[in-house]
Amino acid sequence: MAAAVRGRFAPTPSGLMHVGNLFAALAAWLHVRREGGVFVLRMEDIDKPRSRPHFAEQILDDLRWFGIDWDEGPDVGGPYGPYVQSERLDRYEAALDKLLRDGRLYPCFCSRAELLSAPSAPHGLASEGPAYPGTCRGLSEEERSRRAQKKTPSLRFRIPENEGAVFDDAVFGRVAFPPGAGGDFIVRRADGIFAYQLAVVVDDADMRITDVVRGADLLDSTPRQLWLYEALGLTPPRFAHVPLVADENGERLSKRHRALAAAKLREAGMPPERLAGAIAHAAGWIDRPEPVRPAELIPRFRWSLVPKEPVRLSADIFRPYL
Ligand code: GLU
Repeated sequence: MAAAVRGRFAPTPSGLMHVGNLFAALAAWLHVRREGGVFVLRMEDIDKPRSRPHFAEQILDDLRWFGIDWDEGPDVGGPYGPYVQSERLDRYEAALDKLLRDGRLYPCFCSRAELLSAPSAPHGLASEGPAYPGTCRGLSEEERSRRAQKKTPSLRFRIPENEGAVFDDAVFGRVAFPPGAGGDFIVRRADGIFAYQLAVVVDDADMRITDVVRGADLLDSTPRQLWLYEALGLTPPRFAHVPLVADENGERLSKRHRALAAAKLREAGMPPERLAGAIAHAAGWIDRPEPVRPAELIPRFRWSLVPKEPVRLSADIFRPYL
């Protein structure tokens, strides 16, 4: 018998949740609920200086208001907790130790300014800028200790040289990245903070996640995560990357559209069914933008109904609440 589907939503509490985040959460939740699986909520506050507890609370409130529930999470616990990244540092440390022992990491002394001025190598990642050109890859042990006396390095993962990454995405189909895509990437920053790439792989594996559903802005992080799964001897999940939500001009709804934060719309009295109806209509799941509860969408959810192009929401729907 196939293992039960376990999906998750993994927000970063560094700001208010916007409509695009809600769309990703909705798709992840609909998939799990349709499959009769388990939905996990994980708070990705690994970047402590950028995270705020009140944003974490607000995200939970926004999700409940919208009509999304979860079976395991920071507030309800579960068998694979803790479900808050800042409480899981020992797990990331253990994974880092393994990668270090296996010779997969090296210290990098490059400053931000140096990286920005370096001629960019091919195959950068849209989500993270130009590929690392490999400046510190081949430093001698001597050189490393000399430099370490003056500067705490970050740690980079040495990606495989001749191996690309291929995976079958539930929305985008077969996605292939060439060898070297994105270059060697950071797994622990110079300030000691573990990078998202490492934390997310350790957590998804620990929490037995079978289906990762998230925004298409993270599509090109996936090769990095697949290489980490391999290096850590872990089985990767299936992936589905859902389109971003844009306004009618095609501009991505981001934190710049502050008024379109879920919390602001909620405070302004927008009924959650109206928002869900607008999103479901823009995604092509219902014929008319009529109010709908997320639970009513469960039976009709299919990956084949999730578009690849950004979902465009007209501002008209929000106007009464702005
Ligand atoms: N924490 C990430 C974000 O809020 C999402 C990570 C993921 O879903 O893999 O953008």
